[in-house]
Amino acid sequence: MEKKRILTGDRPTGKLHIGHYFGSLQNRVKLQDMHETFIEVADVQALTDNFNNPEKVKNNVKEIIMDQLSVGIDPNKVTFFLQSMIPEIAELTVFYSNLVTIARLERNPTVKTEIAQKREIFGESVTYGFLGYPVSQAADITAFNATIIPVGEDQLPLIEQCREIVRKFNSIYGETLQEPQAYLGENKRIKGLDGNEKMGKSLGNAIYLSDSEEEISKKVMSAVTDPSRIKKDDPGNPNICMVAYYHNLFSKEEVEAICEECKAGRRGCVACKKQLIKNITEHLAPIREKRCYYEQRPEEVKEILMEGTLKARKEAAITMGKVKEAMKLDYFKEV
Ligand code: ATP
Ligand code: MG
Repeated sequence: MEKKRILTGDRPTGKLHIGHYFGSLQNRVKLQDMHETFIEVADVQALTDNFNNPEKVKNNVKEIIMDQLSVGIDPNKVTFFLQSMIPEIAELTVFYSNLVTIARLERNPTVKTEIAQKREIFGESVTYGFLGYPVSQAADITAFNATIIPVGEDQLPLIEQCREIVRKFNSIYGETLQEPQAYLGENKRIKGLDGNEKMGKSLGNAIYLSDSEEEISKKVMSAVTDPSRIKKDDPGNPNICMVAYYHNLFSKEEVEAICEECKAGRRGCVACKKQLIKNITEHLAPIREKRCYYEQRPEEVKEILMEGTLKARKEAAITMGKVKEAMKLDYFKEV
């Protein structure tokens, strides 16, 4: 099989949660043996809606690297890098911004939803930086000539935007960039504890990979369940219960029986939740154990990121050379 280039990443806005795990991290582990993988810590993108909280972004950089190492992403196979240390990404963003209209950015459904959720940050008028983050994301992808992008479903409109930019660039400046493809897993969008369509770091509805048994227990106990089920032997509807939803992920062998008993009013919510707490805790135990190793070795984590960033920078410089040549920005080449 031909080895391709993968680009993916996360915003350092909080620790990684089970939505990341099922939606993207498992694919990263699977693909790291097949293709050359670059994983970005998108600190510049995180600042677009956390510009007034740089401390938060900084502190979460090491957290998301540790989360990824703890689920089995191998630093000897993948290249981790920090977005802010690749100036070529910022340069490409400027060039690409000429190829996108404001109206097109405003139509992006993911950005639209996110703006609505961030009213307290942006008020009535969103910043130029946040509206334009899909352009910067197109720069992330193309800087590494990546064609496979393992993401959750919320990212599809952003990948589409990137493909449009690539086509426009190539049609004006000549064939230079490659169009990427999203790579979706079986679990495209994991819902939040509150029943929200998406579990998100910034939405306060997540179970984190590093949560203790006590935290998992508190969160599962408060998860949204069938509101019409009041007494233990009332028949329940698992289709509108978040506990049943997570049983699908963590209790594959038992889930059918659990749902049948719920529907027949033979299993109460408390027993159902306790079972889920046990299964999530057991599933996450080896991940937490591996994380402990890295928590005690912050220098090792820093080194992984530093080495990867140096390698990534070299790759981005190659793309930059091609882009500048195509755009006739190579004035001194013949001097
Ligand atoms: P934020 O709320 O700060 O945007 P986030 O939880 O959305 O954080 P990101 O860092 O934006 O996390 O996303 C990283 C990757 O994880 C993306 O590919 C995204 O599609 C995927 N992802 C995030 N949340 C989920 C989810 N609930 N289900 C599936 N995939 C997800
Ligand atoms: Mg997000």
